Amino acid sequence: MGLKVCKFGGSSVADGIQLAKIKEIVNADPERRYVVVSAPGKRFQGDSKITDLLFLCKTQKDHNIPYEQLFQAVCDRFSAIKYSLNIEADLDAELETIRKALDEGCSEDYIVSRGEYLSAYLIAAYLGFDFVDTKGLVLFDKRGRLMAEETNEALKAELAKHEYAVIPGFFGSDAETGEIKLLSRGGSDVTGSLVARAVDAEMYENWTDVSGLLMADPRIIDKPKPIERISYMELRELSYMGASVLHEDAVFPARAADIPINIRNTNVPEDPGTVITGDMDACGDKIISGIAGKKDFTVIDIYKNMMNKEVGFVRKVLMILEENHINFDHMPTGIDSLSVVIESSELKGKLEDVVEAFEQRLAADAIEVHDNISMVAVVGAGMRRNPGSSARILSAIAGEGVNLRMVNQSTYEISVILGIETPDFEKTIKAIYREFDK
Ligand code: ASP
Repeated sequence: MGLKVCKFGGSSVADGIQLAKIKEIVNADPERRYVVVSAPGKRFQGDSKITDLLFLCKTQKDHNIPYEQLFQAVCDRFSAIKYSLNIEADLDAELETIRKALDEGCSEDYIVSRGEYLSAYLIAAYLGFDFVDTKGLVLFDKRGRLMAEETNEALKAELAKHEYAVIPGFFGSDAETGEIKLLSRGGSDVTGSLVARAVDAEMYENWTDVSGLLMADPRIIDKPKPIERISYMELRELSYMGASVLHEDAVFPARAADIPINIRNTNVPEDPGTVITGDMDACGDKIISGIAGKKDFTVIDIYKNMMNKEVGFVRKVLMILEENHINFDHMPTGIDSLSVVIESSELKGKLEDVVEAFEQRLAADAIEVHDNISMVAVVGAGMRRNPGSSARILSAIAGEGVNLRMVNQSTYEISVILGIETPDFEKTIKAIYREFDK
């Protein structure tokens, strides 16, 4: 078997008990050579994540509110981990450096990144692996954008010097100034993927607290089936609709190098989890891989006689959205009508301006706004091979009396997206799941 990169999330590194589990997992396979870690997360309901505490320390400091006690709570969490596992590491010296930086007004990105830094520092000592800092390896440009190729080269060169290493997730540094920069929340998943690409891993194992993805939300479907295998493309469609255990951007580096991602459960390591691969037929003979949905969309319907003959009409609509910095999700069209489907949060405080601009600049015959719309995505590469799949979806929801407001099939035929009224949300998901669970 080839080399594996393992990323352990916050709950997997929350305390000494969890770390003992990850040691067992890592030691069970000598190919698990590169380990990427998050900062300690919640140990129980109501507990705080180290990352949140560090954000708070900085906010309190900036507002001249005493923050020493809060920072001490962070120190205590790391000390408890060190002592519970007898880890030999000079934690006090590291904590002193960080405390001093905080007192002297370090940046938010720096202080928050120390959660992952200390986590990796201790875990490296615990596993007997090298500690490799991502400062100077995960690189950002002046505008804070990740420099994927430069990062790949830098990680590749550094990791070639380490046979076994623990690497902190979530941060890197500005390529010019060397200042610490954070990825977005949950970004350790991205670091894991970057490392997997750089070392040309055979598998990127992403260890978390669930045994992979489920075919539907368990709050809606009782005991939905697990997804054993799924393609990157299908996963993108599902996670776009909110059904993800993985950071949105984590797929890209692994996908660029065609490295499968395996979502695994640290607490139930014998579960095979979900494997995400480039193989569009990953789901075998299944028609549907999963169903996901999102609430709170607004639809703006625009009617205009002879719209189909008016060159540049859609461009005008899109320009108005662009001027208002609004991202739209779908744009179904008829002959003389067009609708834009937008997440309601995007329109906050802007709806009136947008409608006014549509009225003035499009010379439309009518404009209607409908809110309380939900989107449900039925995803499955198997639909490409099975004519009649959409008909089955539509008749399943028609049987439940659901009023379909919009339907959109992706060009690749791997998803059918339905726009429905929000009160029908659960009913729609249940009807489709039932239809394909035969
Ligand atoms: N610790 C960071 C967060 O809570 C990053 C991560 O865990 O991936 O968002």
